[in-house]
Amino acid sequence: MIRTGNQYREGLRDGREVWIDGERVTDVTTHPALKPIVDVKARMYDMQHEEKHQAALTYVENNERHSVFQQPPTTQEHWHRKWNSIDLLLKDIGGVATRLGDETVGEMWSLQDGRDILAQIDPRFADNIDRHIRRVVEKDIFHVSANTDPKGDRSVPVDQRDPDMMIRVVRETDAGIIIRGAKFETASPYADQAYLKPTVGAWTDEKESIHAVGCIVKMGAPGVKHICRAPFATKGNAADIPLASRFDEVEALMVLDDVLIPWEDVFFYRHTAAAQQVRATLHRYSAFPYVLRVLYTADMMIGAAMWNAKQTGLEKLQSVQEKLADLVCYREGIRAHLIASIATAERSPAGLLMPNQSILYAGRVLACSQLPVMMHTARELIGGQICVTPDAAQFNGGAGNWLQKFYTLNKEWGAEDRRKLLAFARDLLNSDYAGHRLAFVQFAQAPHFNHLAAVYKSFDFSGPLDFVRNSAGLSDRVMGGKIH
Ligand SMILES: Cc1cc2nc3c(=O)[nH]c(=O)nc-3n(C[C@H](O)[C@H](O)[C@H](O)COP(=O)(O)OP(=O)(O)OC[C@H]3O[C@@H](n4cnc5c(N)ncnc54)[C@H](O)[C@@H]3O)c2cc1C
Repeated sequence: MIRTGNQYREGLRDGREVWIDGERVTDVTTHPALKPIVDVKARMYDMQHEEKHQAALTYVENNERHSVFQQPPTTQEHWHRKWNSIDLLLKDIGGVATRLGDETVGEMWSLQDGRDILAQIDPRFADNIDRHIRRVVEKDIFHVSANTDPKGDRSVPVDQRDPDMMIRVVRETDAGIIIRGAKFETASPYADQAYLKPTVGAWTDEKESIHAVGCIVKMGAPGVKHICRAPFATKGNAADIPLASRFDEVEALMVLDDVLIPWEDVFFYRHTAAAQQVRATLHRYSAFPYVLRVLYTADMMIGAAMWNAKQTGLEKLQSVQEKLADLVCYREGIRAHLIASIATAERSPAGLLMPNQSILYAGRVLACSQLPVMMHTARELIGGQICVTPDAAQFNGGAGNWLQKFYTLNKEWGAEDRRKLLAFARDLLNSDYAGHRLAFVQFAQAPHFNHLAAVYKSFDFSGPLDFVRNSAGLSDRVMGGKIH
């Protein structure tokens, strides 16, 4: 099925416990800090019903219509359709939002690739992952990701730390397992469910096994508490924060205070081999939509910088053109990795089609690690006026005539358009929200060292090794008896 925006909103009115600015939220769909991003997600649902978009955003299977965003990919065409769907969505909402479900659902597909490991623990767990993947498709569920625990002081051995610093199973009952701890999580206050799994780590130490748990958590379940970080959407006039006021994807510390996870929602527990499998393969699909979002961030930087250069006539300077070309190289580098990862996609153990892993993960490193450099380039192109320009209230207030004079450039560029462009660029590059988005891109899927570890593990080193062995005339002994 495909849900409507209002069905999604109705699902959020489940009595969930959400806290913002020290106060309990009565309705997340109307709270001013959450409403804008709930509306973006609702729009994503509603677009699927519109005649103009339905063919692109949905597919039909067994006479039932489903979302392209939720479809497990088995062909290159499926990936192109997902890309096209994101393109339609982001152009429609007029900005970039990342954690909208399509970017997190792929983590469950990765777990299905390891279903043999789950079956070794308990065949029911392997069936659970199959069923949950189907359930997300059939019920059009907004599914997010819970990886990161508070973790605490890691200089102290695991068995001497407060055990609640990492999610753990406290007991087992006939109905399911009871879990306790906390996770940091984008979008948890306004999502339907999360796939909870062990945090970044090697997961080779058996002592950690009480923390080696993977399951589905319903965001409104008894004992689940969402303690949100300070919002950006409500911290100013929408005219001054045109991005934050619409696209603030609110994070929360999701506390799990002895939450019952029914057996049908458990994927594994007390099992470090499963935790290792999860950490080794987690983003093999979801890195694609994650990196794809950065392509649109690059477009926003290019657009803002180019408009700025055009309005002032500076785009005619060769040095300005070169800086714009730097931004374009970044953008096209990301696009090339995405295209190539589909063109050379690989079959997964469960029969899905994974984007080429080495290319995709290398693209993620490019997109995430170079974003600060590119933001600096865009900032340099746009100049200091993004920092010093007065707010919209001043343009409309008693001294507004002076601002009209000094912000009017020519007959095409009046003061109001210049103010809008500078406010947009500030919120993209210089505001609290801009800094937060940079941290999001760099950390929200995993930190940089983990991005590099994924590249290291997925790249086939045999090509360069053979090339150098032949070129340098190394003896066969260096192969340790293994010649291929
Ligand atoms: C905006 C934002 C949104 C987020 N959304 C989510 C979400 O939706 N779901 C979720 O689960 N998490 C989310 N996160 C959390 C994110 O995954 C973590 O920040 C990240 O995994 C790092 O964990 P940490 O912050 O606990 O850092 P720590 O583990 O305390 O590490 C701090 C730093 O130390 C270094 N370091 C630590 N361990 C190693 C190591 N083994 N090798 C090399 N260097 C190391 C790294 O530089 C690392 O960044 C989000 C984070 C941000 C900033």
